[in-house]
Amino acid sequence: MRRVFNFSPGPAALPETVLRQAADEMLDWHGTGVSVMEMSHRGKSFMGIAEEASSLLRELLGVPANYKTLFMQGGAIAENAIVPMNMLRGKASADYIDTGAWSLRSIEEARKYGGVNVAASSADSNYTTIPPRAGWQLDPDAAYVHICSNETIGGVEFDQPPDVGGVPLVADMSSSILSRPVDVSRYGLIYGGAQKNIGPAGLTLVIVRDDLIGQALPCTPSAFDYQVVADHDSMFNTPPTYAIYIAGLVFKWIQAQGGLVAMEAHNRRKAALLYDHLDSTPFYRTPVARDCRSLMNVTFFLHDAALDATFLQGAEERGLVQLKGHRIVGGMRASIYNAMPLAGVQALVDYMKDFEARHG
Ligand SMILES: *Cc1c(COP(=O)(O)O)cnc(C)c1O
Repeated sequence: MRRVFNFSPGPAALPETVLRQAADEMLDWHGTGVSVMEMSHRGKSFMGIAEEASSLLRELLGVPANYKTLFMQGGAIAENAIVPMNMLRGKASADYIDTGAWSLRSIEEARKYGGVNVAASSADSNYTTIPPRAGWQLDPDAAYVHICSNETIGGVEFDQPPDVGGVPLVADMSSSILSRPVDVSRYGLIYGGAQKNIGPAGLTLVIVRDDLIGQALPCTPSAFDYQVVADHDSMFNTPPTYAIYIAGLVFKWIQAQGGLVAMEAHNRRKAALLYDHLDSTPFYRTPVARDCRSLMNVTFFLHDAALDATFLQGAEERGLVQLKGHRIVGGMRASIYNAMPLAGVQALVDYMKDFEARHG
């Protein structure tokens, strides 16, 4: 068996100990004689698995009592519709901050359900910055303000949640959730697909403040109405049971690492190692402004794009895979989520030095 360092943006690497435990438990979960995949979602065993996953998540993030944590399906792209359906709450429009590819996707979809005011955009910088808060044209009557906490494709990240006054802040945290501590009380709603930092694709997490639900548009599918999902403890329809089980194992793994404070330190060490190297040589460069560099997705370019294919091939030969940048940005992207060990980033930096020595 050979494991590589997997820099995939998602579905992404999972902690090896989690995969091993899942393998051990595959055929017979805790003496039940069945796999978690084969269990009724309403049976005692799976209910226990789901409750434990939910309480671990709440503990890790310090979710206040007046917030629901929901396990849903459809990913962040479905949430782009589900959020306005649930969160417009009779208001005419919502504010959106445009920081790149994923916020643009959210904006396009939200327009189907209500007014969208793009209150700020970093398009002018080709999405290498976060627009300064002082210039945002926020509407005090907006239903909510939407941000993408970490732009997975461009590699820009909000270091802190912006202050948006009394309007609920809604964040797509697909690619940064659980990478560092978060003050949940600063948000009205947090959502994210699981396949970056949490577990297998198919599970979507939603954390939403109690008082914001229960006013969904009448056309909202019941399975996507936060109130309905909350009233049924995320079991209105069959939840993605196996993905919830793996997410629970990942939550336990994070806890064993020391929780989100330790995760942030681990992630900052990895990101610093890579950015420091990018800053140390003109052979490589990152386009992203210093104060909004993502800890999770590091985008960079070789000084000569003609070397890209050779770089990627050499990386692959060393077991460093999935480094090709997204097609709309080009260049390279190293996704270094929680499960990427420091050794993986060190191996990448060593390879980059070696490649420069041979091609510089
Ligand atoms: C991956 C990603 C998405 C897309 O998620 P799906 O699970 O494909 O719906 C949306 N937003 C962000 C920030 C992402 O990283």
